[in-house]
Amino acid sequence: MSRIAFIGLGNMGGPMAANLVKAGHALRVFDLSAASMQAASAAGAVVASSAAEAVADAEVVISMLPASRHVEGLYLGADGLMGHIPEGALVIDCSTIAPASARKVAEAAAARGLQMLDAPVSGGTAGAAAGTLTFIVGGQADTLERARPVLQGMGRNIFHVGASGAGQVAKLCNNMALGVIMAATGEALALGVSHGLDPAVLSQMMAVSTGRSWATEVCNPWPGVLENAPSSRGYTGGFGNDLMLKDLGLAAEAAMQSGATIPLGELARNLYAINSRNGHGGLDFSSVVRVVAPDI
Ligand code: NAD
Repeated sequence: MSRIAFIGLGNMGGPMAANLVKAGHALRVFDLSAASMQAASAAGAVVASSAAEAVADAEVVISMLPASRHVEGLYLGADGLMGHIPEGALVIDCSTIAPASARKVAEAAAARGLQMLDAPVSGGTAGAAAGTLTFIVGGQADTLERARPVLQGMGRNIFHVGASGAGQVAKLCNNMALGVIMAATGEALALGVSHGLDPAVLSQMMAVSTGRSWATEVCNPWPGVLENAPSSRGYTGGFGNDLMLKDLGLAAEAAMQSGATIPLGELARNLYAINSRNGHGGLDFSSVVRVVAPDI
């Protein structure tokens, strides 16, 4: 069992840290939000008064922050963690950030002789709570083998997709496909409803036909079709529209860097931006259906 410093205890980091405590690790945690720290303390973690204090005697450092600037700030900013992490510690960033940022932080870690992985996750808040996340890992294979027992305390599937930054690229590929498919599914259901079709029957048919996807079967965007989907509880408690918008922006940036063309990804990014401008940025991303069906 390891001494783990966990920084960033939000919707994802909070339950991930709690699962590491349950797995028997000693957790020292830090977040800017006092409420998040209280919740982690109740789950059995020791609360630190700063990120630097959290990592002081850590064997493993894990971060789960909103975006690139938070991760670069934490590790590379003034008095950043690269100046505090003990020799030999393993560093794992699970945030979804730009591949270029992940590489930059990993290079700074390597310059200090520290092993680092980018290990963004898929599975959402439900997967974080249940300990069934998928980890999409970039970095060296031997570093992943060192991290594996820790990652297994939070997730079920672990994919090694390449060198530093590759985990972030793969995560963006997955989320770009998801964002496009969700918008397309909402549009298809809205077309059917405009012709008087029952969205539940239409979804059941699509779920056993070639239009099937996670969006029809698990996170259906039409309210009332699936009882447990965010759409049936006012689009709350899922993966936020603005997080999807962030990921599609990162995908567009990554495409420009490599020269790849992503016409559907760019179009989807605009749909989520419109949904955000319409005041739905904090709702689950399946609320993007409201761009074409504003009255639901
Ligand atoms: P969140 O906003 O709920 O949590 C982020 C936490 O980081 C907050 O508690 C915030 O106070 C804290 N924080 C920010 N800067 C900090 C700093 N410098 N030091 C300490 N704490 C700091 O976000 P989330 O939903 O937990 O998502 C975290 C990451 O996981 C994001 O990159 C997101 O894209 C990714 N992700 C989210 C989901 C999801 O379903 N929510 C799914 C997969 C991946």
